[in-house]
Amino acid sequence: MTDDDLATRKMQFLYALRSRGVTDNAVLQAMEEIDRGPFVRGLFAERAYEDMPLPIACGQTISQPSVVGLMTQALQVTPRDKVLEIGTGSGYQAAILAKIARRVYTIDRHRRLVREARAIFEELDLHTITAITGDGSHGLPDQAPFDRIIVTAAAEDPPGPLLAQLKVGGIMVLPVGQSDAVQSLIRVRKHETGLEYDELREVRFVPLLEGLGKE
Ligand code: SAH
Repeated sequence: MTDDDLATRKMQFLYALRSRGVTDNAVLQAMEEIDRGPFVRGLFAERAYEDMPLPIACGQTISQPSVVGLMTQALQVTPRDKVLEIGTGSGYQAAILAKIARRVYTIDRHRRLVREARAIFEELDLHTITAITGDGSHGLPDQAPFDRIIVTAAAEDPPGPLLAQLKVGGIMVLPVGQSDAVQSLIRVRKHETGLEYDELREVRFVPLLEGLGKE
């Protein structure tokens, strides 16, 4: 790909994001700064600038960029925020969060994905991200509470430990529903008086699974 081709593809990429409803300037700027290319390796690297989910290692997927944008926007991240992401995958979503938030913790059940994502964070000088191997449905009690929590794998219901580790005034965005059906992206706001739920749109994510992956 020539530099001109790359520049054109990136422009189309940003245009596609806007036309699908990603309008928040901080989110668009972060997505302009973080190149999706390095997060999509191998066979599908050529297609990194298409608005499509793509396969990554361990049978997982890097989410569709417009969905990453819409979820980040729904999370209303500010520069003061400590954010927890469940489902590191390629590391792309965490990298975008790191451009906006103060601190990002990201967990995946696949050791290999965590290792590969760490290497990219290192290359890109993204030193405010900590990537951890573990079962994210338990959250990260050591670092709790969090201002924002984002889950990028679908559970049937919001996991209790994650709700418990969200600050009062905090926001959590996650897909809920059966893994083989269409799921709903929901936003949960935690108030002094209880939880407020908003349904945002239909999405399709890989399931949130228990325990650690094989590699
Ligand atoms: N946010 C990613 C895409 C995530 S795909 C990106 O930007 O590329 C969903 C990820 O959730 C997969 O990598 C899968 O291994 C992980 N996952 C599923 N169940 C999990 C669990 N209980 N704890 C942590 N990670 C989990």
